[in-house]
Amino acid sequence: MMTNMKMIIDCDTGVDDALAISYILSNPDIEFLGVTTTYGNISVDTSVRNSLSLVELFNRKEVRVYKGAEHSWKSKEYIRGGTIPGCHGYNGIGDVDLGEPEGKAEDISAVDFIIDSARRYGKDLHLVFVGPLTNLADCLKKDQEAIMSVGDITIMGGALTVMGNRNIYGECNIVCDPEAANYVFSSPIHLNIVPLDATLKTMFRVSDIREWRSINEKGEKLFEIARYYYVNEYNDEEVGGAMHDPLAAFASYDPSIITNWFECNLTVEDTGRTIGSFEELNLPEKRHKVALDVDAERFTETYIRLVTELIRNS
Ligand code: CA
Repeated sequence: MMTNMKMIIDCDTGVDDALAISYILSNPDIEFLGVTTTYGNISVDTSVRNSLSLVELFNRKEVRVYKGAEHSWKSKEYIRGGTIPGCHGYNGIGDVDLGEPEGKAEDISAVDFIIDSARRYGKDLHLVFVGPLTNLADCLKKDQEAIMSVGDITIMGGALTVMGNRNIYGECNIVCDPEAANYVFSSPIHLNIVPLDATLKTMFRVSDIREWRSINEKGEKLFEIARYYYVNEYNDEEVGGAMHDPLAAFASYDPSIITNWFECNLTVEDTGRTIGSFEELNLPEKRHKVALDVDAERFTETYIRLVTELIRNS
């Protein structure tokens, strides 16, 4: 496919974020510029730590980690949701111990790194946001023109035809900071949006990845991180866990994995509900492409093949 593609992923590094980072590390066609971090599944400091531990696990210290927002626009501090440990563990990565990372966050902020990279790489840069949208909104406030120049912006978030996973209307990333999300959705940038509608169709089961455990210690660690999530999200290994964040990263690289992109102009309500903007319903120009369906079989096969190679060869 494209050979000059560079990617930055913005994570609240929990389990599916870790699986998304693993995917980007595994794809030889993508130049992985860095991980920017935010609060969400865990505090931003834990997100930094988990992101460093992951790139170090796969011997990829050249992928730098940048610290971003500590809390949402409206709140004064980060308060962790009480149900989150059941999904992501107390440490965000399924309570698997990856040891103390050797590296630390870079001196420049997540926002400045994203803007600098956008100015430097323009169309070659793909930005993927798989946590609350606070960092993206802060980037737009600071330098919208730079962000408008990148090749692709894909987010994991929202719910259109299914119920939310944080409240009945809202998906977790959007609910964490609906004001920032609405700022992003109202801005002129074009967004590819990967909501629950698509990600809930990518259920991986423990049996899909059991092989990782027997390859080596890295495989065992990644398996244990993933297993915690699959077992805990729906309390049933055989139901599996939705690959929310990995699907967004995958779709940024290969949008054809999404078999139904619905074009519209969305807005975000205070509840975190993502819904068509009434005022913009009849505008001919649509800013948002929303993933409603996915080739789950090809996604699963490709993801597992690439990440298995990463475990073997890194
Ligand atoms: Ca996430």
